[in-house]
Amino acid sequence: MPDADLPLVLCLSGLDPGGGAGIAADLLALADQGAHGLPLISVLTVQDSHTVHETRTVDLALLERQWRCLLADLQPAALKIGLIDAAAQAAWLARRLAELPAGLPRVLDPVLRAGGGTELSHPAGEAALLDLLPQISVLTPNLAEACRLSGCTEREAAAAALLARGCAAVLITGGDVGGAEVHNSLHQQGRPSRHWRWPREAETFHGAGCTLAAALAGRLARGEPLESAAETAQRYVQARLRRARRVGGGRRIPGRGPLS
Ligand code: PLP
Repeated sequence: MPDADLPLVLCLSGLDPGGGAGIAADLLALADQGAHGLPLISVLTVQDSHTVHETRTVDLALLERQWRCLLADLQPAALKIGLIDAAAQAAWLARRLAELPAGLPRVLDPVLRAGGGTELSHPAGEAALLDLLPQISVLTPNLAEACRLSGCTEREAAAAALLARGCAAVLITGGDVGGAEVHNSLHQQGRPSRHWRWPREAETFHGAGCTLAAALAGRLARGEPLESAAETAQRYVQARLRRARRVGGGRRIPGRGPLS
């Protein structure tokens, strides 16, 4: 029998060879929550600490074999989905998600544009992402992504539009917006929205969004209720941004992993 005290989180994310974002961020952030990540790579990237230069979608037939092989043996307690860069990949994922238990927490971090400015999405991919929403428990866009996906221009309207597309909750982050504080908000059908304001660190980071979404998936996998998990994950990201490390000439990455 697998160890019950180590919940598994299936991650479908891109590979950043610089180790700042994507699957590398997921695995470290999950380990920091006491969860074990199962890394499935959706997209390979050519990338440095400044931005993404090239992407290559992983072969769907291979992904399908990895998915089936894994799920025949291992039972995830949550899913974290990151960079999906092809409509066909999103459509495949929609079919696979439909086979999973309805109550399994599924966190989707929509990655539309790298912090360095490179577009990582296109209209067909965005439409396919929206079609995934009825199967998603928590969507974690930043404000720009929430507006772009919903077609709305402000936070509450964007959240309402995304909930209307079928996801159970939306956690909108404000790291991409200026101001002395980072304003994050959790929106759910039929419940009052929750708002958090965190002191803003003086710079922008690489991999902060992936770290938050993975930490949230880890907390949900551990059985923490959504509002509490959302707060714990934000607190973790804040703490790790304060310990951010420079690994190249570009943006710093969150200081994940064991505290030394
Ligand atoms: N590369 C991969 C594989 C990602 O998943 C992401 C974001 O999720 C990025 C690059 C961009 O990260 P950031 O916008 O934090 O630089």
